[in-house]
Amino acid sequence: MKLVRSCSAFIISLVIIVVYEARADHSLSRKPDRGYYDFFYFVQQWPGAYCDSKWGCCFPKTGKPAEDFSIHGLWPNFNDGSYPQNCDHFNRNPFDKSKIIGLTKRMQVEWPTLSCPSGDGFKFWSHEWNKHGTCSANVLNQRSFFQKTLHFKIKSNLLQHLMDAGIYPNDEFYRVEDVEAAIEDGLGVRPYLECNFDKEGNNQLFQVYLCVNKLAKAFIQCPVMPHARRCASSVQFQSFS
Ligand code: 5GP
Ligand code: 5GP
Repeated sequence: MKLVRSCSAFIISLVIIVVYEARADHSLSRKPDRGYYDFFYFVQQWPGAYCDSKWGCCFPKTGKPAEDFSIHGLWPNFNDGSYPQNCDHFNRNPFDKSKIIGLTKRMQVEWPTLSCPSGDGFKFWSHEWNKHGTCSANVLNQRSFFQKTLHFKIKSNLLQHLMDAGIYPNDEFYRVEDVEAAIEDGLGVRPYLECNFDKEGNNQLFQVYLCVNKLAKAFIQCPVMPHARRCASSVQFQSFS
């Protein structure tokens, strides 16, 4: 009798542990009210190409950004190439300026807004949080979402890796495979390059996609490449000085 009781207690404990573990795992991978995802695209834009397109640009109220890549966003994505968006369905976690106190100076430098009319950045950052950040809120709260994104900008050091390989923003054309190889040599992961067109129809380097693991700790090889417009074999690297 005693043996039966100990066995039942053991089995019940085992069931409780298994159910608890399953729920813990579930909370990280699937949280329907806040969305769920497999990895992030970390996307940076080249201001020279953003401005030198038929839509043009407006410098932010803080002035002309430096000649450097700047952040577009950190976007949760699925391994099958689809992605969640606008995950805060009940408006419980809208963009809140007070959550990024102390980060805004750095954001104005690393994450400037280039759309027209000129802005101070808050509209752009709010859009990025509401559309993308809310889908990874089970892993990164608002402050850590912006902090991590700034961290990956500095860590990627894209322009330096390109210049180390002799690739400069000097309006010259470069082989796309050389640009990719320069970034891969510097970071150990393969980027995806997106191009747009200048007013003369030249193919120019516009955005660089890198992948970041689900917990936002490290760059990873992309599980799937984005659908953004691929570059032709030769790309112009616009100056922005
Ligand atoms: P476009 O259609 O101009 O390439 O992208 C418009 C917007 O859709 C992007 O700025 C981004 O917010 C979102 N988007 C486009 N492609 C992807 C993608 O592959 N993954 C994610 N997460 N968002 C994307
Ligand atoms: P997405 O394409 O990420 O869905 O949308 C980007 C939104 O942010 C657009 O409404 C765009 O006008 C605005 N925006 C403001 N500043 C910038 C910028 O510097 N780059 C990009 N790509 N979008 C910006």
